Amino acid sequence: MLKIAIQKSGRLYEESVKLLKECGIQLNNGNKQLKTVAENFPIEIFFLRDDDIPQYVYDSVADIGIVGENVLLEKNKEIDLIYKLGFGKCRLSLAVPKSMKYESLKDINGLKIATTYAHITQAFLKENDIQAEIHEISGSVEIAPGIGLADVICDLVSSGSTLFTNNLKEVEVVLKSEAVLVGNKKMSEENKQILQKLLMRINAVKTAKNNKYILLNAPNHQLENIAAVLPGSKSPTIVPLAEEGWSSVQSVVNENDFWEVIEKLKELEAEGILVIPIEKMIV
Ligand code: ATP
Ligand code: ZN
Repeated sequence: MLKIAIQKSGRLYEESVKLLKECGIQLNNGNKQLKTVAENFPIEIFFLRDDDIPQYVYDSVADIGIVGENVLLEKNKEIDLIYKLGFGKCRLSLAVPKSMKYESLKDINGLKIATTYAHITQAFLKENDIQAEIHEISGSVEIAPGIGLADVICDLVSSGSTLFTNNLKEVEVVLKSEAVLVGNKKMSEENKQILQKLLMRINAVKTAKNNKYILLNAPNHQLENIAAVLPGSKSPTIVPLAEEGWSSVQSVVNENDFWEVIEKLKELEAEGILVIPIEKMIV
């Protein structure tokens, strides 16, 4: 049985549960127990505070876990980063009062920084040869300058609206973070195999999200050109239509190239273009 630790409530909870569900793992966590065993996969899920997850994984209480990279780096435990999950994106940034003159990091010299990320902040200051005093607090960092506890803060930001309402401005990005799958370094062979199965499923879910299935009708004289702009998994599927001289073309397109490909297809006389989400994609 593989044990996975996920956040019990908060910003990573929903996406973590969704990911497991998309991997076909059924959990019945209606009453929010501390832990639950999946009905159809050899995995037990622990619901914990995100800050505790690296320690639990390090101690083998859980074999793997889902946490922000920010928490992984701050806790600095000897555990593996197995997979970047692509959700929970945010950045750890330095922010100063709006009224403060800020030109470069040197302006931080001699000031007091409030943060919950003392370890990462310390390393960042050292790397940049800045002397500043770190004041570690456990929450509501954004109010620290307003109440005179510190001059500047180092805190998580996504939209920046919290900073704005607290009269602060973001001046340096210390770390870019997203949710990651972490793992204990000494897992049993049996658990390693379950993890491989889980990773295969996570990959299928993630790959599917990054790709779209596309169907279109094209005049036969353009088929070669259309095939050239549709890389697909191997090559596009081409089926003749009842109407003479026309074919249906089916392929997979990566989200990153999507609009560019659509524009080219239109230029190549494609008609009736349908774009369909893919649920799972095993490559
Ligand atoms: P817990 O009760 O589990 O300790 P928490 O309050 O420490 O929860 P959350 O605010 O739920 O944590 O954030 C969990 C993670 O979500 C963060 O560590 C970070 O990786 C990520 N995250 C994404 N966007 C943001 C954001 N705007 N602010 C804070 N964290 C964010
Ligand atoms: Zn936390």
